[in-house]
Order: sequence, then structure tokens, then C-alpha cells
Amino acid sequence: MIRIHRESIPPPVLAEQSIAATQKLCEQYDAGKRTFNFDAKIYAAPQVKAVLKLAQHLKCCFCERTVGEDGHIEHFRPKGAVRQDLESPRSESGYYWLAYEWANLLLSCADCNVRHKANLFPLASPNRAVSHHESVETEMPLFH
Ligand SMILES: [Zn+2]
Repeated sequence: MIRIHRESIPPPVLAEQSIAATQKLCEQYDAGKRTFNFDAKIYAAPQVKAVLKLAQHLKCCFCERTVGEDGHIEHFRPKGAVRQDLESPRSESGYYWLAYEWANLLLSCADCNVRHKANLFPLASPNRAVSHHESVETEMPLFH
């Protein structure tokens, strides 16, 4: 992955809508739901893409291929389901509570997002946070 320097302040669309949208997902989880619908109009808003394009110098965060309008918003910690490696089963749910989290969003090319990264998020130790009640702070991702 490339090193990315960006503003710590999220684009307005995230600042305005991410808290309520995340709250809704957390309430659904607490009510027993394990698969979620995510609103791409929030996390993949043109404003979000524009800020990431600038921060990433129009490059895919993984392979550095030039990305334009075809760029995908990539969730560093996968939002829908997660796998340790290609042999591991998919988890019941992913890092749904980070779906709209600015620090979790990157810009990638379609190939890297869909074909390669997908829902992989390998950790060096087996202490994965499985809900918003747990912290990702102690996770040791193999991606940096
Ligand atoms: Zn790529």
C-alpha cells in the first residue's frame, strides 16, 4: 500500500451523515441483524472521492495505477464481511461500524478492490473486533 497523507477532518458529507448512519447500523446489530445495507451515497459521495483522489495523487492505494472516475471507495477494514485469508470462511458480518468512518476509507482501482482485496483483512493475531462493542485498537493488521 502507498503512504497517504490526508486531512484528519472528514469531508462534510461524512461529518454530517456518518454518525446517524453508523448509529442505525449499531442498533440493527444489537437487535440481532448481521447483514447490513450500506449507503454508498454517503461513503462514496463525489466529495469523498474528490478528497481521496487529491490525497492519493490520483493513484490506487494498493497498486498505484491511475484512478479517475472509475475509482472505487475501498474500506480498509471491510464493511460487509471479513476473511483472514482466501482459505478462511467469511465472517458473519464485517466492520459495519466503520463503513462511514473517514479513516477507514481509501480510493482504489476496481481490480484491486473487487478482485484482490475484496473482504480480506488479515491480522497478525487472532483478536479481531467483531462488533462495535469491541475495539480495533489492539488488532495487528498485516496491511498498513
Ligand atoms: Zn489497484
